[in-house]
Amino acid sequence: MTAKFRFAPSPTGYLHVGNARLALINWLCAKKIGGEFVLRLDDTDAERSTEAYALGIQEDMNWLGLKWDELKKQSDRTADYDAAFVKLKEAGRLYPCFETGEELDYKRKRQLARKLPPVYDRTALKLTDKEKAAFEAEGRKPHWRFRLDQEVVQWNDNVRGNVEVDCGSMSDPVLIRSDGRPLYHLPSVVDDVDFGITHVIRGEDHVSNTALHIQIFKALGAAVPEFAHLPLLMGPDGGPLSKREGSQSLREMREGGLDPMSINCMLARLGTSDNVEIHGDLSGVLEGFDIGRFSRAAAKFDPTELKNLNAKILHEMSWDTAKEKLDLEGTSEEFWLAIRGNIQTIDDAAAWWTVVTGSISPIVEDAEFLKNAAKLLPEGDLDDGSWKIWTTAVKEELGVKGKALFMPLRQALTAQGHGPEMNKMLPLIGREKILARLSGETA
Ligand code: GLU
Repeated sequence: MTAKFRFAPSPTGYLHVGNARLALINWLCAKKIGGEFVLRLDDTDAERSTEAYALGIQEDMNWLGLKWDELKKQSDRTADYDAAFVKLKEAGRLYPCFETGEELDYKRKRQLARKLPPVYDRTALKLTDKEKAAFEAEGRKPHWRFRLDQEVVQWNDNVRGNVEVDCGSMSDPVLIRSDGRPLYHLPSVVDDVDFGITHVIRGEDHVSNTALHIQIFKALGAAVPEFAHLPLLMGPDGGPLSKREGSQSLREMREGGLDPMSINCMLARLGTSDNVEIHGDLSGVLEGFDIGRFSRAAAKFDPTELKNLNAKILHEMSWDTAKEKLDLEGTSEEFWLAIRGNIQTIDDAAAWWTVVTGSISPIVEDAEFLKNAAKLLPEGDLDDGSWKIWTTAVKEELGVKGKALFMPLRQALTAQGHGPEMNKMLPLIGREKILARLSGETA
């Protein structure tokens, strides 16, 4: 049997780091054992799901390099959920309930006031046919609850180890709303069954759902997949990440010039005690990946660390990789190798491209010095030995050395106080611009 994993985002927003982590880890686990990876769009919430978000999620996944073997949409599968509904009803596991939201709210408040857990009291389970008919006659439409076996559900979680959840203290979950639409649980389990999902990896906010899903799998006569629940990501201060989700959406990261591999490298390790390694592609990340390395403790996500990692990745990035990412006309390997150590994001390359090919206003403090230095610029083609020859001549002829020598030249030629090695920049900037900038002209 082929191992099958799935990532199941709801298209009610764009992906953020928390979802991306689950997508990546599912993808890595699938690839690790030669399994398949399904992208499932949980779009049963018709009011909040949009096509734009569904497409946006696919775009973000492609950007990360997480290709899926199958794409499924829950909105296409209503008939399958209806069939499962009938099956569960016939098995006596679903019962109609007629309470309104207000009535349920009132019950909950009363239980809380009496210091009782706010668990559904199964009143509807005791309704007689006559009582049910009376509700229907009133025009009430039932919602349907799944009758849980009141027992401890156990599984061996691939992250949390042995997990036991007592369903005796849980409310029977509502599977179908009074308007006939299924809520998350039923479609999720039915899809996992129908698609042959063998491994479910999701956030630890789903631990108690898993207990009731296991009961639903069994009630449908289906095999129960393996489960792993990853601790949620926290912000750098240990607070919840969700409040900052906006600033962490993948598309904002992309727009901010982050390389997808920085996100992949970081998210494959966050929550393990292993160091984040730098890899230029996903096959490198895959090599050292092991879901067994993840701990149950919450992992902190620090956007600053991500930026630093991004810079490190760029500093080692080959020209072959970089040329696909640079959105600049006419760049060369020489240019990339000269500047890659001085950028934090790929977009920073543009400013250095302007220094090399565009027009900048030189910083001039001592015009006389620059004028004299210009006269000593070596004749002929400039190469990466020219800077040394030039500055040696300036030192000998004009009697300046160290910072007093290098800084004015750098500032005149690049309009910056720091940056790439000047021996590499000199041939890239070229004689004409060098001479113009040394004479103080914008060039
Ligand atoms: N749409 C659900 C979520 O985003 C899927 C959970 C699951 O993996 O089953 O939380």
